[in-house]
Amino acid sequence: MSSWRLLQRENFTHIDKLADFLELDPEKRAKLLKAPPFPLNFPKRLAEKVVKNSLSDPILRQFLPVVEEMEEVAGFLSDPVCDTSFQKTAHLLQKYGGRALLITTSACVMNCRFCFRQNYPYEGGVKTFGKELEILRNDLSIHEVILSGGDPLSLSDEKLGELIDALEKIPHLKLLRFHSRFPIGIPERITPKFVTLLKQTRLQPVFVLHTNHPSELDEEVFAALKKMGVPLLSQTVLLRGVNDDAATLKELFLQLATNGILPYYLHQLDRVKQAHHFEVPIGKGKELIAALRKELPGYAVPTYVQEVAHKPHKTPL
Ligand code: SF4
Repeated sequence: MSSWRLLQRENFTHIDKLADFLELDPEKRAKLLKAPPFPLNFPKRLAEKVVKNSLSDPILRQFLPVVEEMEEVAGFLSDPVCDTSFQKTAHLLQKYGGRALLITTSACVMNCRFCFRQNYPYEGGVKTFGKELEILRNDLSIHEVILSGGDPLSLSDEKLGELIDALEKIPHLKLLRFHSRFPIGIPERITPKFVTLLKQTRLQPVFVLHTNHPSELDEEVFAALKKMGVPLLSQTVLLRGVNDDAATLKELFLQLATNGILPYYLHQLDRVKQAHHFEVPIGKGKELIAALRKELPGYAVPTYVQEVAHKPHKTPL
């Protein structure tokens, strides 16, 4: 078994084990959600960065199931961006012109409590993406395939290699985009074989790192990203109690830009059920962006966007 898969087995998936590791006192343990509908899945490497006996640590907040999640709040929905209405098949979504999104897997290196796809009706058992490839082959307007999930890097290098082989045989495809959080949780996932796949494909790879707080980043993470030798972008979700202050965002975007990763989007939270406690008002988001513009070069300030279902592109705020 590859070393990254072994590391993945060390992820925290039992809340009591995580509470012990974090040395949480009884008062804090009482706030944890014991059997969350969206399971706990938290890489050990990230858990090691968390402050002990605290529920407000900005890394921990993103992954720790808490009882607050189960409150019903009006306007927070199972599928806030209407993903299912864009399904060409259960594994292929097309929301915007020229691009199509392949749901490669339901598996993730980490389960983020604010994930807008936490209730997505994933279908298991896909081996070949036959139907999806046929649709892509027949639609000459599509020039980019976005590998998403879940996290596409949950697939083995062999499976990814087969998929890339099949995609590059479709002449009108030009760009191959990866969206992933793996380098933050298990940087070892960027294996020499994966790097070779990126170097050998005729498609232009683009890698979008999902990262929300500067503490997620370190030298090992940057080294893994740089090894790929492909254009690097980042996406961040604006999250209450994690990154909703100018100093944190400035540090995050500056670290990214300094390491050759261009901050691409800052997302307003998608209003998914169980994530209401992460929402930041749009007015505050706009103030944060205005403050960042005064302090950072323009290329290090991402576009603040919201996904509004059935609009032909992301909506800049
Ligand atoms: S890694 Fe991405 S897809 Fe997976 S749970 Fe987190 S936000 Fe959702």
